[in-house]
Amino acid sequence: MTDKIDVIIIGAGIAGITTAYYLQKNFPDIKYKIIDSRSAVGGTWDQMRFPGVRADNDMYTYGFSFNPWQGPIIGKGQDIKNYINDTAEKFNIKKNILFDTKVISSSWKINQWTTKTNHKNFTSQYVIFCTGSRDRDKPHLPKFKDENKYQGKIVHTQNWGDTDYKDKNVTIIGSGCTAITMAPSIIKEAKAVTLVQRSPAWIINIDSHEKSSRRYKTFEVLKDYISSRFFKKSLRKRIIAADPYYNEATTPSYDYWDQRPASSLDQDYFRAVESSNVTIERVGVSNWETRGIKLQNGKVINSDVTVMATGGNAQLLGGIDIFVNDKKININDTSWYRGMMFSGLPNLFAHAGYINFSWTARCEIVNERICKTIKYMKTNELSSCTAKYLGEKSKPSIQANYVLRAMDKFPNRTYKFYQNYFVEYLIFKWSKINDGALDFKR
Ligand SMILES: Cc1cc2nc3c(=O)[nH]c(=O)nc-3n(C[C@H](O)[C@H](O)[C@H](O)COP(=O)(O)OP(=O)(O)OC[C@H]3O[C@@H](n4cnc5c(N)ncnc54)[C@H](O)[C@@H]3O)c2cc1C
Repeated sequence: MTDKIDVIIIGAGIAGITTAYYLQKNFPDIKYKIIDSRSAVGGTWDQMRFPGVRADNDMYTYGFSFNPWQGPIIGKGQDIKNYINDTAEKFNIKKNILFDTKVISSSWKINQWTTKTNHKNFTSQYVIFCTGSRDRDKPHLPKFKDENKYQGKIVHTQNWGDTDYKDKNVTIIGSGCTAITMAPSIIKEAKAVTLVQRSPAWIINIDSHEKSSRRYKTFEVLKDYISSRFFKKSLRKRIIAADPYYNEATTPSYDYWDQRPASSLDQDYFRAVESSNVTIERVGVSNWETRGIKLQNGKVINSDVTVMATGGNAQLLGGIDIFVNDKKININDTSWYRGMMFSGLPNLFAHAGYINFSWTARCEIVNERICKTIKYMKTNELSSCTAKYLGEKSKPSIQANYVLRAMDKFPNRTYKFYQNYFVEYLIFKWSKINDGALDFKR
């Protein structure tokens, strides 16, 4: 069975709900459907259930501009999920969501997309991928020798399930945003906790009572990021001098903002690691033992539960098979047009976030641009719009392992994707839709 619709949106997380909002606002009569394999709205915020899960950056910019967040500056995971759901209800978006439905492939032929799912198929003029940036089924799980020897539980933060850690010996492997966020919650209830952090991270502290505004936070975050690019060495020295937490063992080898800094809330991480039942090991893992892990310095850590806070595997377009005129597309052979289209894929848009600013803020400006593109096509009676293969050889946007590991999954060229909200805000607003990098057809 095949249904005909104007636009198919894949994913009902922040990007999917933002996309639906902008489509409805700009085209009140448009027919769209959001397809999601999950049973609820929220995407990341429905999936992530590890203790202490929360946003890393302020909700003034991470919230929707069209339905401002009313809670504290840092949102908790469950509250963000409820907020996305409430937004979908408030703007009558929920009735257009098809839950528990997995998209298998999207194929472009004879001027339309056919989206195949495990239930039914759809044809549409446009498809908008709101599938996030992570492989939601396969997280990054580094392999250590002798895993089958270990008799405790291994859990990745992405698949927390009902993991019980109360009164248990817990080891947390990882030093990124997730490890820093979850450690204070785990430490409250576990018997003893060992943090294995081969390479320390920059950690900024956020005051949960801070009051600000969307405009000021936008300015502040971008100012900090841009100055960190120009004054790398002096900023590094200034942070280390100002904060007694940083010493030889706790200072990252990379510069501030070469990777996204982790955040502590009201000093929770710094206080938690001072507790007497917490040990920090700054060395890599060698292998599994029956009752725990052995470190590269020979020390054995006993643990009932070993938490892999080792991050995700980057993935574009949800791992969905894409075909154009029956030819399967390898995204690595394409060019990434303004971080929102791929060369050779007509009428297909996709959201991607920033490494240095709120994901939602970019979703909003990209959606405005998508709507402008569709309006331009309607006005000029055009049926397709395809990005050309242009741009520079792609470079990692940030020196983070999850990005470096995934370079062969990204387009091999990048055309005008600036990783800078301020620049993109102006360009998306003022630059011409027919900018010479798109092929339009009647
Ligand atoms: C712990 C944590 C904290 C974070 N904090 C911040 C922060 O403070 N600021 C920030 O900017 N970013 C943060 N992020 C990044 C975060 O992922 C994004 O901000 C945002 O939630 C991504 O939204 P999305 O809608 O694009 O994708 P997702 O939330 O990943 O949603 C994608 C949806 O697409 C669906 N989908 C995918 N493939 C298919 C398919 N084949 N068929 C059907 N459905 C499919 C999935 O089921 C999912 O529901 C954080 C991430 C994590 C994990």
